[in-house]
Amino acid sequence: MSCGHWIGSERRHCGATRDVRPYLTGLRCPAHTPRALQGLPEIPPGPGMAPGPHPAP
Ligand SMILES: [Zn+2]
Repeated sequence: MSCGHWIGSERRHCGATRDVRPYLTGLRCPAHTPRALQGLPEIPPGPGMAPGPHPAP
């Protein structure tokens, strides 16, 4: 697994393998997540953002 972000100025893919995770746009390293590319901070996991199914009220 490696980051698939295309670095246009360097004409290569990022290729980072550290902490790569799958996103809607593909595999991305922490520097190239969709939010990072928009200049937004990552959403930290925590209460209210717990993974998994949420119980219905
Ligand atoms: Zn990357």
